[in-house]
Amino acid sequence: MSQATSATKFAQFDLHPSLLKGIQKAGYETPRPIQAATLPAALDGSDILGLAQTGTGKTAGFAIPILQRIVTNPTRGPSALILAPTRELAAQIADEIRVLSASTEVKSVTIYGGVGQGPQVAKLRKNPDIIIACPGRLLDLLGQGLVKLSGIRTLVLDEADHMFDMGFLVPIRKILKQLPAKRQNLFFSATMPKEIRTLADEMLDQPTVVELPSTKPVDLIEQVVYPVHDKRKLPLLEHLLNNDGVSRAIIFTRTKRRAKTLADKLGKASFNAASLQGNMSQNARDRAINGFKSGTFDILVATDIAARGIDVSKVSHVINYDVPDTPEAYTHRIGRTGRAQCTGKACTFLTSDGRPTLRAIERRIGQTIPEHVIEEFMKYDGPATPAGTPRGGQQQRPQKKVQPRRQGGAQAKSRGQGSNGQSKTRKQNGNNGDKSGGQAQETKSPSARRRRPRRRKPTGGARPTNA
Ligand code: AMP
Repeated sequence: MSQATSATKFAQFDLHPSLLKGIQKAGYETPRPIQAATLPAALDGSDILGLAQTGTGKTAGFAIPILQRIVTNPTRGPSALILAPTRELAAQIADEIRVLSASTEVKSVTIYGGVGQGPQVAKLRKNPDIIIACPGRLLDLLGQGLVKLSGIRTLVLDEADHMFDMGFLVPIRKILKQLPAKRQNLFFSATMPKEIRTLADEMLDQPTVVELPSTKPVDLIEQVVYPVHDKRKLPLLEHLLNNDGVSRAIIFTRTKRRAKTLADKLGKASFNAASLQGNMSQNARDRAINGFKSGTFDILVATDIAARGIDVSKVSHVINYDVPDTPEAYTHRIGRTGRAQCTGKACTFLTSDGRPTLRAIERRIGQTIPEHVIEEFMKYDGPATPAGTPRGGQQQRPQKKVQPRRQGGAQAKSRGQGSNGQSKTRKQNGNNGDKSGGQAQETKSPSARRRRPRRRKPTGGARPTNA
């Protein structure tokens, strides 16, 4: 599409030329559905209730009206406040605003905890137009009298349901008290639990409601359930990482500890894995996310909350090592792949105790997720003790036998990274870390048992054939 056409598609909203330039710079040609739906009302000054999840283009949906208002009617000091639940999401919003406002004079600051407040305070002193903040640190700075919110004309509450999950409702209400009563509110949430509905009712004045089918996974994502014995999850994971055309994967675990342990095990098994979970310092989290974005790591092992809002393109696989607790968590997780019109695969490891949750997920997404049975991963310790019998008792696909990919021999250079991002020496023929029984059930040939180094960069090379 030509640049002229690209400009006209957003020009229908009568945007300032400097903003149109930023939109072109961002590479946005056509407004996404959420943008087409929110922009007219938001540019008019209406409140918005957007029911959409990350990945739909909602950031530009609220950033463009904010920037338009600042560019056409500037004030001194912050006039827009964007609240986000996680540092990662705040940083992503800031990145997108930076690109969109590149041809304007608009200044913004990002406020979040886990790092020193000095640089953030220094930026606040320069009177930025936009504050993008996580509630905790913002409240902290407000308490110290270092932020002035009396000039806020537009408030964005992004991922409101996650704010609630993370216990931010009380801080948010405290922040709201410091804002001018007359302001525009742009409220985004993927789901509407009762508490969020109440907050929206309190905050919004005759909002324009924009609802996307956010809980339905995009069609571009292939979804598969793998029944697995609880003690065979790690071998199944390694099997997929080696044989399923994985170029970049996010693996979700139920707890922070499991995320760390699993990333460590994968690192020991020579995969380029980093963990991302709430117990890490901000620096370690940044290292993990930036390393994943840049390709230093091709596997990120994360908890739901830590991974919220992460926008990394070309994630080929999302692997639910543990079944998510809720249908919402499922759609959020699998939305990490299939982004920006790319295809992706979402694999869910199903142990017997996960079936009720899986059924709830299937009811919510309105489809049955196909099961892929690989019998060797359903058994543990001698005679088969299937933890998850395929529905209907039917094996839908034949048993897969792994024919491992040949590597550059035992001298292959180590690429292993631990969860802390530090290089580790590859263990030749090393234990795969599944002390709970990984070796006991493997029926592979000796060459299959040999530990293979994971390539550092995806090569899209030949995949092994499955018999
Ligand atoms: P979000 O839901 O805001 O996290 O956006 C998801 C991704 O879509 C981000 O990588 C944006 O840069 C991208 N995006 C937003 N709007 C558009 C658009 N109109 N055209 C193409 N990409 C877009």
